[in-house]
Amino acid sequence: MKEEHFNHQTIEAKWQKYWSKEKLFTAKTGDKQSKVYVLDMFAYPSGDGLHVGHPKGYIATDIFARYYRMRGMNVLRPIGWDAFGLPAENYAIKVGKPPAETTEVNIKRFTKQLKSLGFVYDWEREINTSKPDYYKWTQWLFKILYDNGYAYQKEAHANWCPSDQTVLANEQVVNGCCERCGTQVEQKQLKQWFFKITEFAEELLAGLNKVDWPESTKVGQRNWIGRSEGASLKFQVVRHPEFISGSKVEMLNQVQHDELNIEVFTTRADTIFGATYLVLAPEHPIIKNEKLKIKNLEEVIQYIETTKKKSELERQIQKEKTGVQLEGVMAINPATGQEIPIWIADYVLMNYGTGAIMAVPAHDERDFEFAKKFNLPIIRVIEGGELPFVGQGQLVNSGIFSGKNSLALMADMAEKFGGKLKVQYKLHDWLISRQRYWGAPIPVVYKPLEISNSKSQIPNGEEGWKVVSVDEKDLPVMLPTDVDFKPTGESPLANSKTFQTGVEKKYGRGAYRELDTMDTFVCSSWYFLRYCDSNNDKEFVSGKALKYWMPVDLYIGGAEHTNGHLLYARFITKVLYKLGYLDFDEPFLKLRHQGLILAPDGEKMSKSRGNVINPDNLIARYGADTLRMYEMFMGPFDQTVAWDTNGVTGVRKFLERAYKLVKDRKDELAVDDVSINRLVKKVTEDIAEMKFNTVVSSMMEFINDMSRVPDGGWAESFVQVLAPFAPHLAEEMWQNILGYKTSVFESAWPTFDKNKIAHSTVVIAVQENGKLRGTVNLPAGASKEDVLLAVNQDERLAKIAKSAKREIFVPDKIINFI
Ligand SMILES: [Zn+2]
Repeated sequence: MKEEHFNHQTIEAKWQKYWSKEKLFTAKTGDKQSKVYVLDMFAYPSGDGLHVGHPKGYIATDIFARYYRMRGMNVLRPIGWDAFGLPAENYAIKVGKPPAETTEVNIKRFTKQLKSLGFVYDWEREINTSKPDYYKWTQWLFKILYDNGYAYQKEAHANWCPSDQTVLANEQVVNGCCERCGTQVEQKQLKQWFFKITEFAEELLAGLNKVDWPESTKVGQRNWIGRSEGASLKFQVVRHPEFISGSKVEMLNQVQHDELNIEVFTTRADTIFGATYLVLAPEHPIIKNEKLKIKNLEEVIQYIETTKKKSELERQIQKEKTGVQLEGVMAINPATGQEIPIWIADYVLMNYGTGAIMAVPAHDERDFEFAKKFNLPIIRVIEGGELPFVGQGQLVNSGIFSGKNSLALMADMAEKFGGKLKVQYKLHDWLISRQRYWGAPIPVVYKPLEISNSKSQIPNGEEGWKVVSVDEKDLPVMLPTDVDFKPTGESPLANSKTFQTGVEKKYGRGAYRELDTMDTFVCSSWYFLRYCDSNNDKEFVSGKALKYWMPVDLYIGGAEHTNGHLLYARFITKVLYKLGYLDFDEPFLKLRHQGLILAPDGEKMSKSRGNVINPDNLIARYGADTLRMYEMFMGPFDQTVAWDTNGVTGVRKFLERAYKLVKDRKDELAVDDVSINRLVKKVTEDIAEMKFNTVVSSMMEFINDMSRVPDGGWAESFVQVLAPFAPHLAEEMWQNILGYKTSVFESAWPTFDKNKIAHSTVVIAVQENGKLRGTVNLPAGASKEDVLLAVNQDERLAKIAKSAKREIFVPDKIINFI
């Protein structure tokens, strides 16, 4: 670099060492009023290290940590590693080393990178979710949930990734594909462990009203939870005479009443007179009931098989409706008493409602399309526009209800026809077990109810077994190392020779441990609590530490976690609150998302595209301060922006100028302090609103102005407001140029005088071809005309003005005659 006034490599290394030695950012418990807990979403230590997009959120939290420190706050800003999980395991498989080993190496690399950016974390609280001292408490959390009825096993259709050979939670399936590897997800019937997040659906909705989160994130969670009010109604099933040998109608409900009703959930009970057929999800259990004697069973089974290959999303968005009528059976519409056909179709999902709907083609778009395609009757029951008409209005063709308003009668009609009002959610319970190696073992033991003398075999948690959680004193259940961890679809812990050691001795002959591990999202659902007291080996966190630090005051991370991590963390918080472990029920008071940084070509950075920008090279060449300021300068913090290397050199030039100016003018006295007051005000206000880009641009403007107009007395305040953004250079100027003996981060954030800014006079430089010829004093904000008037009142300056061709006017700063 040509005009280099400082050596960033020397400066940055020096001050990083200094901050660490002085323990400036070690959090201390003290006065509750002054605590601030600033949190990054912790990193998964991948094999690729950081690219320039990753630190964006961390830079923001670092700015806040340093800024709040200067405001006299007691700051907690911890860091740790989300080290368990699929990506770490897949990487280990790729390089052919155990994940414990590769994770260790990756963490070292990440640590070095984070430190080279000058981030000040409280490293004494570092956590690693794959270490026994952490996952002991993840297992404890499972135990607490299990012992209190919030964790259970269930045989269910689960999302199965054929390439990762494991089940996935609904939140990990994106557009029908595995979030991690992009493979199309299949459905598999499996016995799995679930957490009862659905039991907290109302609390999860209500809590959104009391947190300061982006509206789009709140809407995302509300939609994911998907609350709707409606009614459940029962339709009796009958066998149709046409298909029965002989001439008698056989009413199936004589045999067994309950089984032969189909329960539907509807949000529009008011349209029941228009229900002309029923549709079941292909997975609906009644189809398997032999008493139905479905005539076209083969065709039905074939359709069910085809459905299994489709994802839920595919089933919902496909244009072409498909389906098969169940021949030989009919349902009775409880309102009209008429027989209506029963169909199965894949647009109805088993996971939503009851897996069965009453189809009202006149007043529902999907039912309308379906009825058109299969020539099913369409009966209008609400007056209004063209069919399908989905609005409310006056009822018609609805018996005694005709002529009345549909909306008002929703509840009455449901009740009249034997229905019950019901609230329904789209949210499903959280599937947390994985058939993979690299996770926390689920701390559960299966005990046989009857001890047989034969050697135990592992019976997959069938009947005849008692499931117990492992005693707290026996935690952690250690993840064994004698395991072939490559995925086979079976839990790899099954092939460990040591994993079951001692289980029979403690729990009785035949007892064995659960072989599945927990999804890594369980590890990250509570890590922010552990940070309050990371080194506690007696409790997951002490009550005192919780009371002092929680909730998190500011949380920064990616918006992609809306329906995964952010929902899970809120759920776990609510469970622990309900069980009395916490005295708050929302973990993150304020949440903000950083926007993505794209490659210069406008594409997402990825190894395969070869457009990844490595921060190590940039730090070596331009310095961490430049990189930090550039990322904050790129655009509004929450927006996606493309990388521009010219912008990086621009920021470096600014820092060079600032350094030189402070160095040259350190002894000058104040001429006026309007500009610096304005800058302090601007920076203070914009930090609060996370308008980092305008902070940087106003600093740049300030330095430009200061180079043109001699204006001393600003250096200290300037260095202080610069410090959170370019901490190394600011510390260098503070101690080595301005001569302070303690850190700039121990100085108090500068204040500004509002009155000075509002009612002050400013000194405007009068220049001729850029050379200073004199000054005029005017109220701040004076117009160009007022300035020219003032100039013309000074005889000497008026001459310059007269002979000039034109003038350049910078409000409150300069008038330059050319
Ligand atoms: Zn996958």
